[in-house]
Amino acid sequence: MVKLIAVDDGHGLETPGKRTPSFPDGMVMKENEFNRVVAAYLDAHLKRCGFRTLLVAPGDTDIPLNNRTTAANNAKADFYISIHANAYGAGWNGARGIETYYYPGSTAGKQAADIIHAQLVKGTPMPNRGVKEANFHVLRETTMPAVLVELGFMTNREDAELLRSGAYRAECAEELAKGICQVFGVPYIPVSVVPDPIPDPDTDPDQPEEGTAVLSVEDANKIIPFLSAAYMATTDKEARKEFNRLANELRKASGQEPQ
Ligand SMILES: [Zn+2]
Repeated sequence: MVKLIAVDDGHGLETPGKRTPSFPDGMVMKENEFNRVVAAYLDAHLKRCGFRTLLVAPGDTDIPLNNRTTAANNAKADFYISIHANAYGAGWNGARGIETYYYPGSTAGKQAADIIHAQLVKGTPMPNRGVKEANFHVLRETTMPAVLVELGFMTNREDAELLRSGAYRAECAEELAKGICQVFGVPYIPVSVVPDPIPDPDTDPDQPEEGTAVLSVEDANKIIPFLSAAYMATTDKEARKEFNRLANELRKASGQEPQ
């Protein structure tokens, strides 16, 4: 039976207060800008690893918590993951790190939280603030084991720099996916990177012999008219020279005489 994972990206894009203080460059990061990217990556990782997913709060608006948990409960999700970034006080300060929450007394929740938290702490440069119990709506009102992760503090400069970086967002999603795979005892399937095959002209019949055309005359003559049109459309001498040069490159590549 394919497991269904409910993925919750925390808040709406414009939910009041949920954002960093201003960075020195004037930029402000909204919490959901972080959460939604991690959720999207996680969604892809989970599907690749054989799970079904339910995004309980797609789009930009702040879906009420009750709608999120009801959607997961109605769909009979097997697990609920809620993705957040933390905040402490109003301005920049020293509180930082990752913490992971489960509902008080939930054995399955604690087990999953322990596994996922360990994975996050192992795979990211964040300080470890531990696994904690909390009476949060999404943990209390869900009928399946639920875990809420706070992946760093928006109010700490070091954390916030990580939170706004694409690399950290990708890392968080990967560690969450690895953790969830471990919770369900399924292998994590890494993103496969298929290297470009190194062509061997002696054995690969698709590779042209040296000196032969790499572009068919037909294809070249489909592109050249666009360059001619661009040539005609401008009076700029340099641009005309460039369009002419490109057309001749295409002629040469297709074995035709340059003009
Ligand atoms: Zn949040």
